[in-house]
This record gives sequence, C-alpha cells and structure tokens, in this order.
Amino acid sequence: MVRFSVLGSGSCGNSYVFSLDGQSILIDAGYSFKQINLRMEAGGFDMKDVMALFLTHLHPDHAHAAGIFARKTAKPVYVTRKCRDHAVTEYIALNIPETSAMVTEPGSPVTVWPFTVSCFYTSHDSAGSCGYTVDVDGKRFTIITDTGKYSQEMVEEARSADVLFLESNYDIQMLRTGPYPLYLQKRVAGERGHLSNDQARNLLLDAGYDGSSKRVYLVHISANNNTPETVAQAMCPFNAFVCRRGECYTDYIS
Ligand SMILES: [Zn+2]
Ligand SMILES: [Zn+2]
Repeated sequence: MVRFSVLGSGSCGNSYVFSLDGQSILIDAGYSFKQINLRMEAGGFDMKDVMALFLTHLHPDHAHAAGIFARKTAKPVYVTRKCRDHAVTEYIALNIPETSAMVTEPGSPVTVWPFTVSCFYTSHDSAGSCGYTVDVDGKRFTIITDTGKYSQEMVEEARSADVLFLESNYDIQMLRTGPYPLYLQKRVAGERGHLSNDQARNLLLDAGYDGSSKRVYLVHISANNNTPETVAQAMCPFNAFVCRRGECYTDYIS
C-alpha cells in the first residue's frame, strides 16, 4: 500500500510526500521546514523516513525549505541539471551542501529504493523546470504543474499514471477580469506560465481520461483567478478531486 499526500498546493506553497513501508520521498518543499514537518505528522508521515527531496523548480512556493531540509537531514536534493546550471543565483541561495546536491535529467530515472523517479521538462519561467513520474510498488504517480503549455510527452505521462496531480491554475475569464495588471496576466497565461482550467481539461481529454478508473487531483489553483467551484465545474466529466489552496489531502492506493 502506497500512502501519499498533497501536503499543500497553490501559490502559498507546494509539497507532496509518497511513502511505502516506512520509506518516503518528498517532491517540492514550498513551505517552511517546520510547516512541512507539521503537515507530514498530521498525515501520519515522519520526516526521518524521507530519503530524498525532488524539486520541480526553484520558485519559492516549491523550493522554500530545500536548503534547510538538506542541512538538517543530510539527504539528497535533486533538481534537473539544466536547473542547476542555469538558475544559478536561485540555486546558490538555497545553500544546499555539496554532499546533498544531486541532479537528474529526462531519460535518466533516479532510483531511491523502492521509488524510481523520472523527470520531464515543463514550460515555465524558471530554468530547467520539470514534472515527475514516481513508480513504486507497481503504482505510478505523475505530477504536472507550473507549465504554460503541455506537451505530448506530458499527455503520455498522464495516460500511464494511476494517480495524476495536475495543475488547473486559472480560469481565463477570471484572469482577464481579475485584479492582475496586464503584464502579470500575460505572464500567467503565457507559454512559460501556468495551465488554465481549459488546458488541464484538454490534457485529460487527450490522455483519454473518462472519469472511471484513474484518480486525478487538481492542484496549484490560483487564489485570485480561480475558485475550487469553477475548477470542479470545468472538470465535471473527469470525477477529479479539487485540492483547495493550502490544504492537505492524504490517501493511499493498493
Ligand atoms: Zn513556478
Ligand atoms: Zn508554483
């Protein structure tokens, strides 16, 4: 039985934990280290079981606690090679000790037994940003967030996942009529921004989802340009679960 939790999602912070038989990995650490510990404890997880942290990219809502995680636990922190080589200032600012600083690349899965973690590039305004697919105990989890457009590769990753965590960031109408100035609207809706409800729905359609067998969690929902109700309405054929901003959701699959 694989236990997992969306420890939180949205612009206030993003983090996921996956656990099998007392061995765990984290993906993203976008809250304070203390807050991640509290959220894990609330879901029945233990930081001492965490063997590695994988970062999708270095925006603070994903990487905030990566440095302190590495310094406190001495466990590896993975980013893509492109991220480490090109997001230099942000990477150095995390102050990850050299012994914990690891890289991963598309096409070269990392095994942190019993987990195998593969990455794929996303399209975001943060160098080397990626999504992840986690294989463990015959189950497959895929995380696709922080991407302004989706690729055929992402569609295939979504198609093969048992549990999918998919960004459904904004409603285009709410973005256009909401509080964001034009330059920010362009950033969010641009090719290196975020996925809209419509894009997320199209990705699910392209991946052949029909609302029956697979589980979908809709995450990274904007507080300003979306509501959980709007997402639920846009996604009603898919029987998807809408993760409210900042809230924890723990479940298992066997
Ligand atoms: Zn981001
Ligand atoms: Zn983000």
